Amino acid sequence: MTRFDFDLFVIGGGSGGVRAARIAAGHGARVAVAEEYRFGGTCVIRGCVPKKLLVYAGRFRDEFEDAQGYGWTLEAPRFDWSALIANKDMEIKRLEGIYRRNVEGAGGKIFDTRATLVDAHTVVLADGGRKVTAGTILVATGGHPVKPDIPGAEHAITSNEAFHLDELPASVLIVGGGYIAVEFAGIFDGLGAETTLVYRGDKVLRGFDEDLRDGLMAELFKREIDVRVNANVARIEKNWGDYTVTLTDGASLDVECVMFATGRSPNTADLGLEKAGVKLGKQGEIRVDAQSRTSVSNIYAVGDVTDRVNLTPVAIREGHAFADSVFGKKPSSMDHDLIPTAVFSTPEIATVGLPEHEACEVYPNLDVYLARFRPLKHTLSGRDEFVVMKLLVDAETDKVVGCHMMGPDAAEIVQMAAIALKMGATKADFDATVALHPSVAEEFVTMRTKRGAPARPAARTPPRKRGYDETS
Ligand SMILES: Cc1cc2nc3c(=O)[nH]c(=O)nc-3n(C[C@H](O)[C@H](O)[C@H](O)COP(=O)(O)OP(=O)(O)OC[C@H]3O[C@@H](n4cnc5c(N)ncnc54)[C@H](O)[C@@H]3O)c2cc1C
Repeated sequence: MTRFDFDLFVIGGGSGGVRAARIAAGHGARVAVAEEYRFGGTCVIRGCVPKKLLVYAGRFRDEFEDAQGYGWTLEAPRFDWSALIANKDMEIKRLEGIYRRNVEGAGGKIFDTRATLVDAHTVVLADGGRKVTAGTILVATGGHPVKPDIPGAEHAITSNEAFHLDELPASVLIVGGGYIAVEFAGIFDGLGAETTLVYRGDKVLRGFDEDLRDGLMAELFKREIDVRVNANVARIEKNWGDYTVTLTDGASLDVECVMFATGRSPNTADLGLEKAGVKLGKQGEIRVDAQSRTSVSNIYAVGDVTDRVNLTPVAIREGHAFADSVFGKKPSSMDHDLIPTAVFSTPEIATVGLPEHEACEVYPNLDVYLARFRPLKHTLSGRDEFVVMKLLVDAETDKVVGCHMMGPDAAEIVQMAAIALKMGATKADFDATVALHPSVAEEFVTMRTKRGAPARPAARTPPRKRGYDETS
């Protein structure tokens, strides 16, 4: 008989925590999970999934417009925000149920409350104050959006609230230039809101390949999103029914909604981590080793709370590797190299491997293959939108070290290319693959001409902090 109530106590029922709990329980561990809000965490409740549903909704506008070139005549389509949000909420509720059942089905116990550490083996449950002990504790508490400290910041929403607005605002001003900012700019613009994007840098998506950044900036302008770069918000004042936003360059705009997408912080405050002796990094993140072990030997941490690569599949893999290693006698660790990622802007961006400005530092002999073209679909639709595709090849080994794309279905295409890169594919392997015609993706296997100009200047932007951390 062990002296602990559970073998594993997981704090946080999100992507990383639920995967770890389920796998550990499958290995025979006695597992409990505490979740203070809703099962599924950020990804399911107010991140990837609802965001992608809203992205789909916004992109119908393009489809309706494009259809005309193909002979369709449509009545003026009407959009109903309440119907979209209600349908989205129904789907999220369904997924939340699946997450709960996955834990319970594996034999785990769920506590629907906040849990904090009392010491290295004890947590206290906020609901009733009960103390529970465990041999191993996993902190998988994720992160939260942060707002800048400016006058009137309380009037602004973040991505959390964007999913639950009562109405679609007629005008939105989004602050930020990272994943979430450009994704929501596409969503609101697509659904018909007058959209302004204010970003303090000179170009959105800092750290991404420069050709993708340039490509997306051009498309945002074409869509008539009011992109204001090298600017920031100085203050927000509430008026009768809307807000006056004053920018640092003195400009002022009246809008119905202001949204900050300016950063996310790890959820480590008031968790009792200091009492247990867990060390934090400069951004408040939990410091872990390659096995996700913290400075306390029986306490582990996975996912956004460790601020490594803030993406759902990464949190899931880290949770899985932890459970296999600690409870399944299968030592493993998450490989953080060559993680593909997409930005669901419109048009979307996807990438795996190094951007050119980083690749040319690592590989002095870098070959660059770049294509920029109007896809076949838009010959009839008439849409003035370009696709950008890029391969970076180490000329010494012929290995493809970067694959980047902006355009329709970029995420779907780059996910497949990521397999090739992970296997160490060479440019000759890409060339030996027969094109699937006619498709956009075939460009990746038909690129033959190296870009003449030398690689872009090294370290033009600092290395990318990958994932939805949004500290842009
Ligand atoms: C708007 C948005 C869009 C995104 N889109 C994508 C995308 O398209 N693709 C992608 O890969 N990633 C995306 N992400 C990132 C992704 O959501 C996160 O990387 C992922 O959810 C991290 O999982 P996690 O398990 O670390 O944390 P989370 O999923 O955040 O789970 C943490 C859970 O812990 C709970 N919790 C916190 N403290 C306590 C406590 N003391 N006691 C009990 N429970 C607690 C929280 O309520 C939460 O449910 C997006 C994020 C946002 C915000």
